[in-house]
Amino acid sequence: MGKIVLKKVRKSFGDVHVIPSVDLTIENGEFVVFVGPSGCGKSTLLRLIAGLEDTSSGIIEIDGKDATALPPAKRGLAMVFQSYALYPHMSVRKNIAFPLKMAGMDQAAIDKKVEGAAKVLNLTGYLERRPGQLSGGQRQRVAIGRAIVREPAAFLFDEPLSNLDAALRGNMRLEITELHQNLKTTMIYVTHDQVEAMTMADKIVVLQAGNIEQVGSPLELYNHPANVFVAGFIGSPR
Ligand code: ADP
Ligand code: MG
Repeated sequence: MGKIVLKKVRKSFGDVHVIPSVDLTIENGEFVVFVGPSGCGKSTLLRLIAGLEDTSSGIIEIDGKDATALPPAKRGLAMVFQSYALYPHMSVRKNIAFPLKMAGMDQAAIDKKVEGAAKVLNLTGYLERRPGQLSGGQRQRVAIGRAIVREPAAFLFDEPLSNLDAALRGNMRLEITELHQNLKTTMIYVTHDQVEAMTMADKIVVLQAGNIEQVGSPLELYNHPANVFVAGFIGSPR
């Protein structure tokens, strides 16, 4: 569970070719970071994988099955949004439980899953609070909790920490890395921040103008940048 393959995936908006053609394999359990300057197509690529945008052409496979035409809800992936998208009038418990309730799960099973997620995320003492009574970092964790309970094949993060201050961002980076080590689920993480990419990724995908410039581990990219763009972006001596 959690292998994602893109084959010649293209995306145009009108006559603007935002993703000219991307081939990429993400292995089960990998922490993959899409990094590149603002406007290079990171969010678009993530939204194509999530099914929030239709491909112009090409194939997206999830766990060996063609998912190109599947709606987001049928892909088995969970997107964690930067804006949290929590329901302000609902408790943390109800926010996390929401997707399970929608799926018609019985209350005892819901409670068990919500409490399990709360434990992993250090939210046990906060389940009866509302989002407005939480810090930014805690809210981000609730949003992640709502993804965890669905047991997705992969988590998709689009710049999840950009609303947080620098100190909190460092903490949350560690928390998400730890979460990945605990869950061992595929994670795709979008950021324009090289430090996040270098510290969090198993595999970094460097994008420029919708093209993949290089794919590799942080060390590979640092030591052997494929070109001047990657070297400049990663900050390797060259
Ligand atoms: P990033 O996330 O790397 O900052 P995006 O994927 O958001 O980049 O955007 C890549 C390019 O595609 C940008 O030039 C952006 O203006 C364009 N774009 C994104 N979404 C749309 C859309 N719905 N319609 C037209 N252009 C879009
Ligand atoms: Mg973006």
